[in-house]
Amino acid sequence: MNAAKALEQTAATKADKMAYTFLGQSVTYRELNESVDRFAAGLQMAGMKKGDHIALLLGNSPHFIVSLYGALRAGLTVIPVNPIYTPDEISYILRNGDVKAVVLLDILLPAAEKLHAHLPSIEQYIVCESGDERAAGVEQSISSIYPKMKTFSYLLQNKSIFVEPEIEEDDTAVILYTSGTTGKPKGAMLTHKNIYSNARDIADYLDISEKDTVVTVLPMFHVFCLTVVLNAPIVKGATMVILPKFSPKEVFDAVKEHKATIFAGVPTMYNFLYQFESGDPTEFSSIRLCVSGGASMPVSLLENFEKKFNVQISEGYGLSEASPVTCFNPLDRPRKAGSIGCSISNVQNKVVNELGEEMGPGLVGELIVKGPNVMKGYYKMPEETAAAIRNGWLYTGDLARQDEEGYFYIVDRKKDLVIVGGYNVYPREVEEVLYAHPDIIEAAAVGVPDQDYGEAVLAFVVKKGEGLTEEEIIHYCKAHLAAYKVPKSVEFLDELPKNTTGKVLRRSLKDQIVKES
Ligand code: AMP
Repeated sequence: MNAAKALEQTAATKADKMAYTFLGQSVTYRELNESVDRFAAGLQMAGMKKGDHIALLLGNSPHFIVSLYGALRAGLTVIPVNPIYTPDEISYILRNGDVKAVVLLDILLPAAEKLHAHLPSIEQYIVCESGDERAAGVEQSISSIYPKMKTFSYLLQNKSIFVEPEIEEDDTAVILYTSGTTGKPKGAMLTHKNIYSNARDIADYLDISEKDTVVTVLPMFHVFCLTVVLNAPIVKGATMVILPKFSPKEVFDAVKEHKATIFAGVPTMYNFLYQFESGDPTEFSSIRLCVSGGASMPVSLLENFEKKFNVQISEGYGLSEASPVTCFNPLDRPRKAGSIGCSISNVQNKVVNELGEEMGPGLVGELIVKGPNVMKGYYKMPEETAAAIRNGWLYTGDLARQDEEGYFYIVDRKKDLVIVGGYNVYPREVEEVLYAHPDIIEAAAVGVPDQDYGEAVLAFVVKKGEGLTEEEIIHYCKAHLAAYKVPKSVEFLDELPKNTTGKVLRRSLKDQIVKES
């Protein structure tokens, strides 16, 4: 199934249903579909052809949805890029991704002008009006890209007829540059079948329907948002409440105003919502399901949040290379705290040893995945593709175990394992204990070189108030962890460095240690 058809089908059956609301403006599925059609025709009029690559440098907005679906409908391959990446990161992705056109906000034009000399393949800049006063008069400073510039509204207002291209389900729909907390980002190529099947399967699994109103506050350029709170609601005709960026107050206000039924966030967002002083527990009363993913959800945070807001958090797991969802806690069986749940329909998950052999319940090994959601490969990286996909199975690089009832538990990233005197320490075990301390807001454990044991655990802690000391934390950990797992030292920080999807940037924590020593 061509991913762009999902919107067309929903518009045909639920034309007057509200597709989204954004900053007070509401749009129906019919209106959204018409904009997408016009934008697709506008792209063709501007000379874009099937198979061309188009990058979206956009935050959460209707511009993003219309560009995404318009480009997919015209047979283009879409590369969503985090607009707050550094110029070097953006330039790398645009070059590596052979991008021919970029859709961007007007306030990013000066940055685009600076990059332009290094990006000769870009033929079009499609500029969205932000209404931001910083964009006033910006056109004077962009002489080299000015001739290649068109406005988003110009493409939208064109009168040309859209010519539907032949789109195969194995054509690349999206290339996602994976978060790159280590190494250079790689472009995971997801086909129309990959993204459509995963949106449909997760929507079925979580029972998303036209009765639902979902809060779309996760960043749209990230696959978690793209599939779970953008494509899945579109497949089912649910309403999206789009928030441009995360702030606890705006989330509470949006849930209350729109009587939202589903909230999806990364664990950091749950932590901010939980810590928010004036968060009224009744404000989440319309929510039937909270969804967490993207990073492990500390069990103590999950329990505290559920108690305060009287909701259930259902944790799932995924990765860009799998479009992303592979596992989720089921709705029709018990939800297990600390677990990522079971395989969703049509997707297989297995825990294997170094030889690729399946391991029994309780044993820790690498999680591997197979299904219609697994990517075609990494763009222009055949060796990395061959290493990641073996015999049709995607090797996730995550360590996991499965229980007797088929529920999976993520133990940690394979590469984050710390080995203390020959014993394995999974940072997550240490972090779970730290999170359970009432005076700790956030924590991360990393391995550092140690003269006696090869490696030792160092804990980074964000504490509440001034009181807690390093000795107290070590003493507390000794009561809850085997001796070799107890942090040898503790560093206090005001906040943990994280990427926009809430993953702790362990490399930057480790760099900090190197700088200090
Ligand atoms: P990304 O490709 O940016 O979506 O990142 C995928 C990675 O996020 C996975 O390989 C995991 O390491 C991590 N991840 C996603 N969901 C979870 C989860 N529920 N628990 C632990 N780690 C997770």
